[in-house]
Amino acid sequence: MIKDFIEATPLPAIVVSADERIAAANAGADNLLGSPSAGRHYIAIIRQPPLLDAIEVSLKTGARKSAKFLSTEAKKDMTWNAQVAPLGDTGSILVTFEDQTAMEEANVMRRDFVANVSHELRTPLTALLGFIETLRGAARDDPDARARFLAIMEREASRMNRLVQDLLSLNRVEAEERFRPIARVDLAAETASVLTALAPVAEENTVEISTNGLDAPAFVAGDADQLAQVATNLVENAIKYAGPGRSVRVAIDMVDRHPMIRGAAIRLCVTDTGEGIDPIHIPRLTERFYRIDNHRSREMGGTGLGLAIVKHIVNRHRGRLRIESEPGAGTEFQVILPVFQ
Ligand code: ADP
Repeated sequence: MIKDFIEATPLPAIVVSADERIAAANAGADNLLGSPSAGRHYIAIIRQPPLLDAIEVSLKTGARKSAKFLSTEAKKDMTWNAQVAPLGDTGSILVTFEDQTAMEEANVMRRDFVANVSHELRTPLTALLGFIETLRGAARDDPDARARFLAIMEREASRMNRLVQDLLSLNRVEAEERFRPIARVDLAAETASVLTALAPVAEENTVEISTNGLDAPAFVAGDADQLAQVATNLVENAIKYAGPGRSVRVAIDMVDRHPMIRGAAIRLCVTDTGEGIDPIHIPRLTERFYRIDNHRSREMGGTGLGLAIVKHIVNRHRGRLRIESEPGAGTEFQVILPVFQ
């Protein structure tokens, strides 16, 4: 009877009887504990002090207990919440294991994110505080130094401003991610106006931009501001990371049936002839604050959030982002969006 009940339980579960042996275990529990456990002493198979203590107390006093239990499955660390409860007044107890891995991972991600944001803000803040102090003291009567320091302070404050703006956009896009935008947007026209806005940046960096396919309309179902943001982030990156004297190509075309979205697609390609990206970095580029070269990115005013924003916007549009790069030759970012129907 108890064996049937345990087998039917969807969570890994075992029953420990009053003689401290495992009276029954389901397949999930045997899998989790690494061997068939029925009939064995519970200490021989559980081996993690927090859960051993919980079982011991529950067997002795009949109290309900819970404990954390850790395991590794296919090289992945898993966290379980083990609940220990008496089975009426039989003297036996039931132990069930609830998988908490996803929640634990979300907690770790949240903690990492807060630590990253704090770190990103602290660097410019420390610089600002330092310069304020210098302006009050040593540089008080030195107009040249004052002008120089104020220029640096402005740069650091703008960096903080950009970071806060990027965090807000990321937040907004994430909040809306489940709502697919439906307005008819001409991606070619949006991209063309982004290029007009970025022309001075390209000039400043002596980067030549060429285009293809931007004069014919390319309609997708989307959010115009967000698609403009995608184009801005990709073209800005291409300009920044291509480097002076190099070129960037921005092209839009239509693909009748794109395998990545299994249907007709509009494709935006931003290709640079910069240094390229080592393939080991490519899968991680869209993580928040992931940069290949921290110093270089900061030097160029990067927040490390640009591609994370792109990824979320593309997801919201049910599109795909593809990154291909040949180290030494350049990088191509492709945004593949379903055509407007
Ligand atoms: P950042 O603000 O640092 O540019 P992004 O999220 O936009 O942040 O990009 C993340 C990282 O990806 C950058 O720090 C850079 O290392 C790399 N990267 C992005 N675009 C390119 C590119 N066109 N060529 C080479 N590396 C790039």
